[in-house]
Amino acid sequence: MNQILGAHMSISGGLYRAVESARTAGCQCVQIFTKNSNQWKGKALTSKDTELFQEALVRCGISHPISHDSYLINLGTPSDELWLKSIAAFEDELLRANELGIPFVVTHPGSFTTSSPQEGLDRIAQGLLRVLEHTAGIKTRCLLENTAGQGTNLGFELEQIAQIIEAVEGGKPTEKTGDDFLLGVCFDTCHAFAAGYDFSSEEKYAKMMEHFNAIIGLNRFRAFHINDAMKELGSRVDRHAHIGCGKIPLEAFRLLLNDPHFENVPKYLETPKGTKTNEQTGMEEDWDIVNLRTLRSLLEN
Ligand SMILES: [Zn+2]
Ligand SMILES: [Zn+2]
Repeated sequence: MNQILGAHMSISGGLYRAVESARTAGCQCVQIFTKNSNQWKGKALTSKDTELFQEALVRCGISHPISHDSYLINLGTPSDELWLKSIAAFEDELLRANELGIPFVVTHPGSFTTSSPQEGLDRIAQGLLRVLEHTAGIKTRCLLENTAGQGTNLGFELEQIAQIIEAVEGGKPTEKTGDDFLLGVCFDTCHAFAAGYDFSSEEKYAKMMEHFNAIIGLNRFRAFHINDAMKELGSRVDRHAHIGCGKIPLEAFRLLLNDPHFENVPKYLETPKGTKTNEQTGMEEDWDIVNLRTLRSLLEN
């Protein structure tokens, strides 16, 4: 099974540095923030930034770059001020990614905070409609990420994501079976598990994917976040763990990594950084290297 595996990498020192770190860790793909993820506005990109980034991708043999939007953005908020600010910031994220030649921006749908889940979902759809209207014509598209459902975060049930897609595109998500969609999906394994999706046996995995195919269409799944979960199934707590060190059985990762539906759909680690002592050599190894090795060991021809 051919899989494109990589990780989220820091852009500290320059966007191109993330690509170089990806290569050092043995990645085939990379996810980045195009700016500090805790800031509303980033420094404008220069043509030099873009050039260095694209040159690094070629030089390092890294494909499928994607970006993740800022954590401040909340299109589900009942506050008009925050909603408009979020729309502007999300537009900026899409434009930056487009400038860098990044095809997809991953976004968490949003939180309803003091309103209700349904009001939140409506608000998110309305916000996305505005964003898409203002950025019409660009190549970069949004991927809605499923969430752990912590607090008032929406998008932990894939039905919620289907509802947003339907409201934005004006038709059932399953009607579009090709490349002509506006909104795709980024599936995070930790978030799914925390939200209560159990995909740890062949039967459960098949049932879950059949369901997603029926409500959204698996062709919209254009990226995966491969993370283990620190907390148990259905905890609604978003805490990522190293692969095989959390509560998700390795069998679940094996099933996903060998699913022919998602062959060539890039998969990114978002696991904690740092090093681990290799038991055989006694040397310190990057956790990304360790996690990628674990994932690759699960691949069947
Ligand atoms: Zn995310
Ligand atoms: Zn994620």
